Amino acid sequence: MTRQIIVAANWKMNGDLALIDTMVSSLKDVKISPATEVIICPSFPYLALLKNKIAETKLNFVLNVGAQNVNENTSGAFTGEMSTAMLQDLVINYVIVGHSERRSLYNETSTLIANKVIASLKAGITPILCIGESEEERIAEKTQAVLYSQLKPVIEQVGIDKFIDVVIAYEPVWAIGTGKTASSAVAQETHQLIRHYISQQSEYVASKVSILYGGSVNAVNCKELFAQADIDGGLIGGASLQAEQFKIICAAARGK
Ligand code: PEP
Repeated sequence: MTRQIIVAANWKMNGDLALIDTMVSSLKDVKISPATEVIICPSFPYLALLKNKIAETKLNFVLNVGAQNVNENTSGAFTGEMSTAMLQDLVINYVIVGHSERRSLYNETSTLIANKVIASLKAGITPILCIGESEEERIAEKTQAVLYSQLKPVIEQVGIDKFIDVVIAYEPVWAIGTGKTASSAVAQETHQLIRHYISQQSEYVASKVSILYGGSVNAVNCKELFAQADIDGGLIGGASLQAEQFKIICAAARGK
């Protein structure tokens, strides 16, 4: 079996009912490779509405819905949070965990992120685990050390065997929302480093784990990025808010 190819849209705190309508309707005529999984992650209030819109639209592929965050606890006094059980109720099968905005703006640590990964896996929800270095770290040639330091505590807490059910998204912080995409060579080299780190613990998991690239992917650069040997699709921010761009990106993701 080959690795899963995935295109996931991270709408962040953007989008509305009109975008849900436009996006789902315009995906009706897109040709998605059978090997490709497409996921849209809107803000919490729109999860069920997006699911309903998908259910009532005749698409010729499965369009999945994912959340952008989840709480690591099962239930209780956590105002403003959402549990894995709530996501299960809505039949949500993916969740973004450890996005750099959550790490930097909401002080999410690797331990917390690992707990979110564990909670998601227990609930049968696939976590999309984001990792990535800042611009200063890349310039200081610390990329490998930073990525490994983000992966290590999560792998230690979760267990390498469970990583078979985790999707990794490599998102260089300097490329997120900046228009400064990593070149396909830089992205491939970094994905290879990530896969190598996993392979040191399990060759099998390394051969199966999907590693997505995220950071200013658009309709123009997606094809070359997705063609790289260790890039298994993308996590798309800004361009996933524009139906015409997102369609092109989805269609460009296919098995190699
Ligand atoms: C993101 O924030 O996950 C992302 C990849 O954003 P953008 O595509 O806008 O860089």
